Amino acid sequence: MRACWCGVNNLLPFSPEYSVCGACGTLVSQNSLSDEQLQVNNDDTDFYGKQYWLDHQKQDLGFPDIQARSRNDLPERNLHWLKALLKYRLPPAEVLELGCAHGSFVALMRQAGYQASGVEMSPWVVDFAQKTFGVPISVGPVENLDIKSGSLDVIALMDVLEHLPDPIATMRLCLELLKQDGMLLIQAPQFKENMRYDELVESKGAFLDQLKSDEHLYLFSERSATELFRRLGAEHIYFEPAIFSHYDMFFVVSRSPLQVNASEKIEAALLATPNGRQVLALLDMEKTLRKNIDELRADATSQIHILTNWVQEARNEATTLRNTFSRPILRIALRLSEIQSSLARKIFGGGG
Ligand SMILES: [Zn+2]
Repeated sequence: MRACWCGVNNLLPFSPEYSVCGACGTLVSQNSLSDEQLQVNNDDTDFYGKQYWLDHQKQDLGFPDIQARSRNDLPERNLHWLKALLKYRLPPAEVLELGCAHGSFVALMRQAGYQASGVEMSPWVVDFAQKTFGVPISVGPVENLDIKSGSLDVIALMDVLEHLPDPIATMRLCLELLKQDGMLLIQAPQFKENMRYDELVESKGAFLDQLKSDEHLYLFSERSATELFRRLGAEHIYFEPAIFSHYDMFFVVSRSPLQVNASEKIEAALLATPNGRQVLALLDMEKTLRKNIDELRADATSQIHILTNWVQEARNEATTLRNTFSRPILRIALRLSEIQSSLARKIFGGGG
């Protein structure tokens, strides 16, 4: 039985494949591969080797393959992550992304002016990322790399924390690689501690897809993630809106309190380089799109509200009619004609 990362052994049942830690509130997989099986020694046969990116993601998990992802992630999650990065740390800064997959986020960060590089487990993916985006990527795990302690400003871990067999050790190492005021930028599934497995199944909850017990070894809650980093001396944690907020959480965490950069400072930093200007153009476009979508949504909501009121009024009219049914037929006809003209006024406007 896999114990909780926090050291607690006697876990409570949660689902057929997960237990829950009553002490910290983490879901712990009881069906995972061994720590050795999670390494990539043979790229063709190992779990996180080449096939993870080509067949497993597509066939087993229903995701687009790495080719499609390398295009689609850029204007979507990568842009969302970049906004949070800019909010807390301006370029230029030394950034490492662990588990960078096809490398599009590394590429976007470099475009914005960061000295960004990435790490991946599969040599095939590293080669793919280097060729696709022309960015520096190393074959991991990070434990094997020669990175100077206290040399990095930011380490990004997107959908990585939940895969780690020893999150305490890996996060301790990451914090050691950071400068004193460095920060981790993390996206991970969010276990909400009031969730019950049978209720999730009943409601077909989005979080069910995160219960991938062979690879998601620890599913943290906001409380347990906070506790993990508190134990490692990184007490300053800031939760940001996650792009997939119905099942993820997104946060930055640091040993030092972090300052928030004003939007004018962010814009000035991006305007300072030709490539940064292109990134700013993407962010501007995304902002305009989001504003338009919000307006359309508000408009649709008010239309629905009006229609709902009409239906309610029509129901009331029908009730009135039923109540007057015993009266002469002339009365009913009169009422119908009133409804008709009232609806016509509502639909076509005017006072007629
Ligand atoms: Zn625990």
